[in-house]
Amino acid sequence: MRNVVIIGSGCAGNTAAVYAARASLSPLVVMGKHAGGQLSMTTLVENFPGFPEGINGPDLVENIKKQAQSFGAEYVHGDVIDTDLSRRPFRINIEGEWVETRTLIIASGASARWLGLPAEQKLIGHGVSSCATCDGFFYRGKKIMVVGGGDSAMEEANFLTRFGSEVALVHRRDQFRASKIMLDRIRHNPKVKVLTNTVVEDIMDVPTKLVTGVRLKNLATGVVWEQEVDGFFVAIGHIPNTAIFKGQIETDADGYIISKGGPKTNIPGVFHAGDVQDRVYRQAVTAAGMGCMAAIAVERFLEAEGH
Ligand SMILES: Cc1cc2nc3c(=O)[nH]c(=O)nc-3n(C[C@H](O)[C@H](O)[C@H](O)COP(=O)(O)OP(=O)(O)OC[C@H]3O[C@@H](n4cnc5c(N)ncnc54)[C@H](O)[C@@H]3O)c2cc1C
Repeated sequence: MRNVVIIGSGCAGNTAAVYAARASLSPLVVMGKHAGGQLSMTTLVENFPGFPEGINGPDLVENIKKQAQSFGAEYVHGDVIDTDLSRRPFRINIEGEWVETRTLIIASGASARWLGLPAEQKLIGHGVSSCATCDGFFYRGKKIMVVGGGDSAMEEANFLTRFGSEVALVHRRDQFRASKIMLDRIRHNPKVKVLTNTVVEDIMDVPTKLVTGVRLKNLATGVVWEQEVDGFFVAIGHIPNTAIFKGQIETDADGYIISKGGPKTNIPGVFHAGDVQDRVYRQAVTAAGMGCMAAIAVERFLEAEGH
């Protein structure tokens, strides 16, 4: 019987593990297929406090993991493939093996939706990004492109005009899902050029490991052209990793866990941390902060139950 199982080894899960381990709860962290989470996909992180020169994303998460291990956190590879949260102890199926636990921290994150172009995955962290707050700063005075048609794409495009010499907003339809107010803001921003009915066919340049341009196609006219781009931001939404909790944990329509106050979910003893609940901030430091909150909540929950 475990005191606490933590699902996910991103900033949220690893930070929860540091706190839970230091509270002598011997946490078990299930790392998931993407060990280290989203930060393991990126290069330099310049906005995590404490690193004046910045730190590489993979190093940052690995450091937090090592910190947790030094206090006794245990890490296992693989995914949680099923859960039974209907009664306590909770049961967690890790790649076919059931584990019982008194409490659970869900830190399974939210995966960015990507366009699915072969070059895209190869250039993440090298010009391709899904986070303007994180990476906009790297493109001061450069040419930026944003893909998407919803509010978050408008927000990212607007925000990126603080840095880029120009921002092209590419959308495959001629109508936007974004709200009128966000769309108006974009249309009145002289730095944004809107390209509707347009899809991205390819991103260059994989051999040099740097984004240099894109090939675009206008779906209405069939015209294909290449355009110089330095920073390529995909803003077509995120998918919270909550499928395995479906019908057990309360989520919103998009699958994000609904907070019942701080890190609490609708199930006493099950807590959330990080991007799996946070559709607003989605930062390493906020995920880490929520990991801390979840672990402290676990500690108090167990103590109240006499463990
Ligand atoms: C390219 C890129 C660059 C970024 N740059 C920055 C930056 O510069 N600064 C910044 O603050 N933020 C940045 N972010 C955002 C930041 O990475 C996220 O906000 C942060 O990683 C969220 O942490 P998390 O622990 O909640 O989730 P994640 O990092 O998404 O981790 C989720 C974890 O859950 C695991 N998991 C999922 N499903 C299961 C399952 N069924 N069983 C077991 N494990 C599971 C995954 O394997 C993973 O380990 C960036 C994001 C991206 C994509």
